[in-house]
Amino acid sequence: MHPDIKHLIGLQVIDLRLNELRTLVASFPKRLAEIDAGAATARQQLATAKETLITSLKDRKRYELDVEQWKDKLRKYKDQTAAVKTNEAYKALQHEIANAEAEIAKAEDRLLERMVAGEEYERQVKAAERALKEVETAAQADRQAIDAEQAAAQKELEADIAERERAVATIPEDLLDHYQRIARRHNGVALAEVRDETCMLCRVRVRPHVYQELRRETSHEIFHCESCTRILYYTDQPVAQAPMAQTSEG
Ligand SMILES: [Zn+2]
Repeated sequence: MHPDIKHLIGLQVIDLRLNELRTLVASFPKRLAEIDAGAATARQQLATAKETLITSLKDRKRYELDVEQWKDKLRKYKDQTAAVKTNEAYKALQHEIANAEAEIAKAEDRLLERMVAGEEYERQVKAAERALKEVETAAQADRQAIDAEQAAAQKELEADIAERERAVATIPEDLLDHYQRIARRHNGVALAEVRDETCMLCRVRVRPHVYQELRRETSHEIFHCESCTRILYYTDQPVAQAPMAQTSEG
């Protein structure tokens, strides 16, 4: 193995961790926004339920008034009955009385309907209040969890950036440039392990003499996969957290 490859393998491990951390850090604002949106929906549902209840109460007042007004009329017609002189006038009055009684019955039906509906709307308001409380309690816990996660991720990110600086100090600049160029083309994965004469990231076989050279302890050459162009390395020991077949693109 080329002596610098060992350093690149270490750098690759750090870079993959950094990629993951940056993705994680970038996901926090969206998660917080989703929590806020959930709470806003619950608040809106409560507002709608309250509005419906208020409208229902207004209707109820109106129907109560209707009942009262028809009862007043009925009383007036009944009072007039005693003073009626003709049979026709009496009949007309009886007709008005029957009509008023019918209107009272209708208004009372409507009122009863509103009262029953009002109870249901009150239940809905209470349910929406409970739901909002639950959502807000959960949202607060979620926000705290995300804040803690965010702080930990930020701390780890800073530590990894410092570790990367130490790691790149051991790598010649032109090789580092080369590594970074390849990494940019391959989702941050510039190195590919070779096993059984095969590039583990694109599954294309390497030439036998390349494989032999990769396996030679004292080799000072750097080889690339002919298919995916990543820098190849061979190790007979498992590399801790070495980049494995994470992507299969060429
Ligand atoms: Zn390859």
